[in-house]
Amino acid sequence: MTDYKNLIDGKMVDNGQWLEVLNPATEQVVGRVPSCGKEELDSAVAAARRAFTQWKKTTAEERQQVVQGIAAAIKENADELYRLLTSEQGKPHAQAQQEIYGAAGLAAAQSTLTLDDMINQDDDTRLSRTRRVPVGVVGGIVPWNFPIMMAIQKIVPALVAGCTIVLKPSPFTPLTTLRVAELIKDVVPAGTVNIITGEDTLGPLITEHPDIDKITFTGSTATGKKIMEGASGDLKRITLELGGNDASIVLPDADVQKVAEQLFWSSFSNAGQVCIAAKRIYIHEDIYDDLSKAIADYAKTVVVGDGSQQGTGVGPIQNKKQYERVLDLIQDAKDNGYKFLTGGDKDPSGTGYYVPITILDNPPEDARIVAEEQFGPVMPLMKFASVDEVIERANNSEYGLAGAVWTKDTDKGVEIAEQLETGTVWINEFMQLSPFAPFGGHKQSGFGAEYGIDGLKEFTYPQVITVKRDAAV
Ligand code: NAD
Repeated sequence: MTDYKNLIDGKMVDNGQWLEVLNPATEQVVGRVPSCGKEELDSAVAAARRAFTQWKKTTAEERQQVVQGIAAAIKENADELYRLLTSEQGKPHAQAQQEIYGAAGLAAAQSTLTLDDMINQDDDTRLSRTRRVPVGVVGGIVPWNFPIMMAIQKIVPALVAGCTIVLKPSPFTPLTTLRVAELIKDVVPAGTVNIITGEDTLGPLITEHPDIDKITFTGSTATGKKIMEGASGDLKRITLELGGNDASIVLPDADVQKVAEQLFWSSFSNAGQVCIAAKRIYIHEDIYDDLSKAIADYAKTVVVGDGSQQGTGVGPIQNKKQYERVLDLIQDAKDNGYKFLTGGDKDPSGTGYYVPITILDNPPEDARIVAEEQFGPVMPLMKFASVDEVIERANNSEYGLAGAVWTKDTDKGVEIAEQLETGTVWINEFMQLSPFAPFGGHKQSGFGAEYGIDGLKEFTYPQVITVKRDAAV
């Protein structure tokens, strides 16, 4: 077991109080991190504020270089990082590798984004120009499903925009983030990036801190609402990336064998603990029987187990609370007599938070396992007859994060996509986010956006400067 320290003002520090972090595959402690409160937060925020006075004056090129240094540090240490990530998060090694390399790639790509000045008016009367100025000190709060990707998703645009940041990982998955902190300690100027750990109770202290100017949060919709409330005291800027209940719509012309495996992974990657996982699969009645059988057959080839073991496709649920929540949803489906194609037979007494691959056969639309975000290895398959009907069913959700349409007729796919009430829709693929395209939720899936120029702008204020050219002074 290793102790991991926090990064505050360019130094790795601890306060002598520790939180233990469990491996969800073994329920054994894998490491400890500092348990921080107001005092440590105050020093991290003060360091970020001091650093901001210099960092905001740096050029885009200088900031780009620092961010590329972060990308390189992650990439060079990817082997160590992905193994550590699996040990705290549970995801299989191959998926942990994807996250680590994906985070390095995201940092490198987003380092190239720049916010140019915009000319609003340029004539004999006046010159009016909009520039983007950094908001200041950012508080970043991230969840446990993609700890490194989410941390980079907050740190990088903050730095690129000229802000400094205090980041709080989830208490369930802080280890890899603190190891990254150690690796980038001498890459970033002291105080520009601070990473502190603590229980959930540290979150509201960040949200309400009087010297933090903006909150960027990824997590559940319930917590997102609390963040909005907490940040309202001094009208902090906020970006919220929240829950989803994404629908995948499979039209009758889709090739059953070709889409079965892709649909499977769109739901079961990271044991279903993905905000943009397909959580409701609507299949046209003409191909429903064939496709549901093909998905269930493929599921039988996938091994559920410890993510550090070769051959594992689906790891454990990351933490006990979520594990019990998913089991409760499955129990509810059993109690209601819904039909299972696989799963539903869990003995919850063993070691590790394992849930079997669970596929439901056409449960009703109002079943809890359909209407709620499962965030686990669960896939409800539902039959539909007409496109109008399925669009209405897909949109019948408080969430609006993403969705997918599977069809050979891509024009038809786009026509359907344009009627879906979500921030992203994929035609014939899933979970593909571009560093250059905005990612954000409609309805209760979020507020604002991350990624791309739109995401970067959220770390800035517009400032308009006008020069009167024909002034009588
Ligand atoms: P969560 O909301 O419980 O916790 C997220 C973070 O918020 C953690 O760091 C936690 O310590 C902190 N927190 C908890 N209470 C807080 C409070 N009152 N004030 C401030 N911070 C607080 O979410 P989770 O269970 O860690 O993650 C799962 C959820 O995240 C799912 O709903 C999932 O869909 C969502 N998610 C969304 C996206 C996205 O980009 N839209 C990505 C990943 C996960």
